[in-house]
Formats: sequence, C-alpha cells, structure tokens
Amino acid sequence: MGKLKTADFSEEWTLSEEGFNRSLSKHYEGLFTQGNGYMDLRGSVEEGFMSVDQALEYDRKPANVTLEKHIETPSKWGTYIPGIVGKHPYLETEIINLPYICEVSLCADGEKFDLENSSYEDYRRYLDMRDGCLHRSFVWNTKSGKKVSVTLVRFLSMSNTHILTEEIVLRSLNGEADITVSSGINAGVRTNGFDHFETVKCGAFAEKYTECTVSTNGGNTVTFLGSIAGDHTCFDIEKNDHAVYHVADVKLCEGAQVSLVKTVAAATDRDQDMESDDIRANCLKYLERSLKDGIEKEYAEHLAVWQKKWDDSDIILTGSDTAKKAMKALRMSIYHLNRSVCGNDPRVAICAKGYAGEGYFGRYFWDTEINMLPFFIHTDPKAAKNLLLFRYNTLSGARENAASYGYRGARYPWESSVTGREECACWQYADHEIHVTADIVYAIMHYVNATGDEDFVRDYGIDIMVETARYWMDRMDKDLDGTYNLLGVMGPDEYLAMTANNAYTNRMVRFALDTTVRYMRKYLADKNVTDRLNFTEAEVAEFENAAENLKRPVKNKDGITLQCDEFESYADLDFDVIWKDRSKCFGTFISQEKNYRSKALKQADVLEMMMLFGNEVSDEELEKNYAYYEPITTHDSSLSAAVHGILSARLGRMDEAEKFLEKVEDIDLKVEKKGAEEGIHIANCGGIWQLFVYGFAGMKSAMWEEEPVTAPHLPEGIDSITFPVIWHGEKKKITVSK
Ligand code: BGC
Repeated sequence: MGKLKTADFSEEWTLSEEGFNRSLSKHYEGLFTQGNGYMDLRGSVEEGFMSVDQALEYDRKPANVTLEKHIETPSKWGTYIPGIVGKHPYLETEIINLPYICEVSLCADGEKFDLENSSYEDYRRYLDMRDGCLHRSFVWNTKSGKKVSVTLVRFLSMSNTHILTEEIVLRSLNGEADITVSSGINAGVRTNGFDHFETVKCGAFAEKYTECTVSTNGGNTVTFLGSIAGDHTCFDIEKNDHAVYHVADVKLCEGAQVSLVKTVAAATDRDQDMESDDIRANCLKYLERSLKDGIEKEYAEHLAVWQKKWDDSDIILTGSDTAKKAMKALRMSIYHLNRSVCGNDPRVAICAKGYAGEGYFGRYFWDTEINMLPFFIHTDPKAAKNLLLFRYNTLSGARENAASYGYRGARYPWESSVTGREECACWQYADHEIHVTADIVYAIMHYVNATGDEDFVRDYGIDIMVETARYWMDRMDKDLDGTYNLLGVMGPDEYLAMTANNAYTNRMVRFALDTTVRYMRKYLADKNVTDRLNFTEAEVAEFENAAENLKRPVKNKDGITLQCDEFESYADLDFDVIWKDRSKCFGTFISQEKNYRSKALKQADVLEMMMLFGNEVSDEELEKNYAYYEPITTHDSSLSAAVHGILSARLGRMDEAEKFLEKVEDIDLKVEKKGAEEGIHIANCGGIWQLFVYGFAGMKSAMWEEEPVTAPHLPEGIDSITFPVIWHGEKKKITVSK
C-alpha cells in the first residue's frame, strides 16, 4: 500500500485481466478506459511495448466499420479530449489522439522493463468501477537477479477534471536495487495512423515541471504539465523532439518501499472553465492546486463524485451466477456511460466508441438519442439535457446540410462531429439514413416527458422542431392524391439502402411533425418564439397536413408491418447455406450488392419502431411481427440484440430474452471476441441498461406513461432487480421480483 488508500478489492466491482496475454492487450486497453467528462484515457500499460511504434503511420480509409479489419498491434495509446478534432486526409474531421500522459518506465541495471521481454510473476491488472481506479501489480525478476515488487494505481479525477494522478510504489524483495524511473508525456502518437500535430513543444517549465504543448490541425492548442514527487527522490528533466520525462535513480533498500506520485494537468483553448486566455497558466493552476491538495484529498473528492453517480444509477440483481454475470455487464455499462458523458459540456455528445478508441473516428450517431439518452434521462437529467443541447448547438451545421441538398430547414448529419455538418464519408448512409433528424425530436420529448422540463422546448427544442419540419417538407415527395412519401431512404437497418417509405422513418417523422405542430400552436402567441423562428399559422397547417398524409406503414395479408413499401419484393435467402460461421458477422459472407437486394436485416427496424411506440402495438401484433422479423435479422449491428431482448421479454419469450442477454453481455466482455479493441460499444451499454429497466423489469417508457409502471419478466437465475430512476425530478427506487 502506498499513499493512496483505495477500497479493498471486490470481485463484483472489478473488471480484471489475469496475467498478460499479448493478443488480448488491446481489448483490455479499451475495456479499462478511464474518463471524467473532460478527458478519456485508454487503459494502456504505463511503459508501452518496445515492439510497438505508437507513431506508426498508415492509411485508414473510411469503410464499412462492421466488417473492417484493423491493424494488428498489441497496443494503441489513446488520450482524448472530446471536442478536440482535426482534419484527416480522407475525412472532414476525426477525434485527435493526444499525447500519452501515463507513461512510466522502469530500468534496472540496463534492462528496461517490457512485458514482452522481461521476466515477471503475479501479474495482475484490474479496473475498480466504484472509483475508476486502474490497478496494476507484478513482481519483476530482473536479468541482474533482483526481485522488485511494482504497484501502479491511476485515476482521472472526477472532481478536478483536468488532473491525472498516478501512484507508483516500488519495493525490493531481495537486497538493494537501483531503479531508474522515467515518467513522461509523449506526443509520439498518431490517430488512425495520421499525425494531427502541427507543432509539438516539449520541455521543462518553472524548472520542476515537464511541459508538452501541441497545436493541432484542427486549430487547437493543448497543454499538459507534469510533475512527479517521491520521498528523497530528485528528478532531472530529459526531452527529445516529441516527449519529455522526469527521470530519477531510485535506491531501494530491501523491504522498504518508495512511493512516487505522478500528476499531470491538461488544459486547452477550448476549455469551458478557462480562467484566462493563457492556457499554460490555467494548466499550471490546475496542477499546483492538485499538488497543494495532495493525493489523499484529490482522491477523496474524486471518490465522492463517483459515489454519487453510483448511488443514482447502480442496478442490483439477486439470484444465481446468471445474476452475478449480468450485474458485472450492467456495471461495466453504467461505468462507461458515466465516465464518457461530458455532463457539463453541451458542445459534444458521446461518440460511438465512448471515447475509448478511434473506431468510427469519434463520431456521434443516433446512438446517443435512442440508445444512451434513456439512461441519462432517468439517472442524470442534467447530463441528458446537455446531450440534447449539443444538437441545439449544432443546428447551424444541420441547416448547412439541408442547404447543401437544396432544402430548407435543418437536417442532422448521420455522422456528426462538433459542427453538426455531415461527416459521414459513405454516400449510402450520408444521403439516405435520415431518421436521425426525427429521432432527435423523439429524444427531446422523451426528456421532456420524463423530467417535466417544458421550458426546454420553448427555449431550444422548438427551434430544432420547426427547422427540421421545414427540411421534411422539402424532403418528402407528394403524390397527386396528396399522399406524402419518403423515398430513397435507409432505415436503421443498413442492409437495405434505398427504400420507399421505411416504416420506422415514416413513423418517426410523423411523430416529429405532430409534436412540432402541437408546440408551434402553443407558442403562436409567444412573440419571442415566433420572431426567432418566423412562423405563422399557415406553416403550422402545412406541417399538420403533411403529418396527416405521410404514408403509413403498409401491412401485408398476414398483418405483418412491412419494413418498406417494396419489402416483399426483396430476395429470400437461405441463411444456413450462406452464413457458414455464426460467430462472424453475416455481412462477411455476402457481397454488399447482394445484401442490398435481400431480406437480411442488419438490425431491428419495424421492431425498433414497435419498441419506441410500444403503446401503439398490442402483444398479439408484436408477436406476429417478432416471429417474422427476428429470423431474418442478422444482428450484425451491436445495437440490435438489446432491442430484441427487450421485446422478447415483453412477449414472455424468455429463452430468447436470455439468449439476447448473453449476446449483449458478450459484445464487450467476452475476451475471445476482443470487442473493446477499438473502443467500447457504448450504444450497447445503453442497451444493456434498457434491457433490464424496460425489458426484464418491464418499466413503461415515459413517452406514454406518467409514472413508473412495471410489468416484469425476469430471466431464469435472476430473482430480483432493484434500480433507481429519477422521474419528474423525484428519485425513486424500484424493486421487481419474481
Ligand atoms: C449501426 C448504426 C450505428 C452505428 C454506430 C452501425 O453499425 O448499424 O445503427 O448508429 O453503427 O454505432
């Protein structure tokens, strides 16, 4: 034990890596990502790997991410500050991987410790989800015959979010040992193989601190200042063109231990809490404040924030091993949702990989509104509001998107970065996957219904509603009989690219138009609103007519709601013949060309609609549609399994619900899948929470229920579920049992 007194190890609160396995290392880096709403750090081992060049340059072209093969390497460092993005050769922008700030390397008698080359025992690493501390310990058997016990613990402060603190405890187990410790900040990194840094400045600052300042090709400046302190230890500063280190020779007497505390502060020219224009001065203030407080106080304040978050969001299951396994998956999900949300910053959302890797280039999708938002609405409404404000703040980008197609109003991008302009590089999705624009209005109403915050609509939501309705008016095609159609549409199911009247999209758009009409009427007499948005009763009537006449989903003779008008004309496939190995994505066994003309869904589409408008569909109708669509759904999207799990629970198809539970747990937790290598499937994390709350506990959505009402369907092995929900500002604790 060093200075940092963290809670005792608790199996049910930890994600562990027992022993080191090169091929799993990158997966654990993603899974162990730490974050505090200001920055996020992949869980890389401190010293890195001698065999890995973190500055390797390569081409990562935009492609179908579900099927993409990433470069093989045991490690990818990742330091992300949401909002710090820059131009990539093939893209508008991508999130930038910033200098690695956790670097600590050890050297004994000329041997540098390296996981692939050194000899060590009792190797252990785990993330404690209670306080977000990443622990690592091992005994190093040096080539020169020394036995050195090494323990490292680090956390990104939740209370002083600019600060990383790391304690390194060294102890010699056999005689004296001399260890050289180098603690660095290293800008020798790339993002998806690309160098975003225009300048890198490394050096000493105020004689005792290290400094690494980068200017990015996105126009930002980011400064890191580092400090290290240890009893009776003097550090020198060494640097090269891309990294700077505190270096000290530490003398270890047998049995005695040395504790070193590394602190790194970060500041950027984008910080909301900027105290002055001088970034380095701000950074220095954060650093010195933390040093003055000391590690114990820093940790205590940090812990208090995490405790509050867990108090508001933890879900307790009782039962057999099934319950234990599920609780781990739930906590993993809740941990990553809580650490990746920038709850005070309405200029960013949560990217598809939860800032735990560079998959999807750090982009924001409908995942935020539909998969993650319900969790925040009911556990941290302020964070939920911020996520919606992000869309409000990117309305001008959405207007540019609409204008680029020659339309009025605002069209939200399929893939968003900080501006709201379309960033998706593949035309199929960029041009056709338009449902996100209506999903945002649904999400606003979900927030308003659950919180009662009607002012949100008057102050922000109405702008989004009116502007997106104007876009829909231009995007729809009107038949001679007055029917409005949405043609050339890709629904959430991305395996059918250009369809007519996608059921999900049309239902969402009708909902968005109806809601817009209702609020426009409400605010017709509010000059503030009408002046700002310049609307009249005539426009309201136009939207109302369009909503009324927008084509309704078609049912076939068996009463199945068709995914799109022409759905039945697509080819039927023999899945058993094509899908030779079900552990791999279906998409790897079929060409895109054939996929686009076949009945093989990537994810729920009609079923997703029936979940989000669950009050409009009877169990009987749902059952019929479930029985039809589930067998032709490949679940190639990680968003799919949770939706099917929720619906199968509602239908009491418990064998299937249990199968989907296992599927959602495995996405990031089954080590053989290495699912977290390129980041966390954060939409699935939101999905896991929803599966328990809406699925197994059967809580009805705030979209149509005034108060929490449950209709539980518990899986085998789970006896009870207890969860907190905030509903209209009141925190309630709900327990459902068999
Ligand atoms: C899914 C989308 C999702 C995106 C980002 C895709 O594979 O099909 O629905 O928004 O990944 O998670």
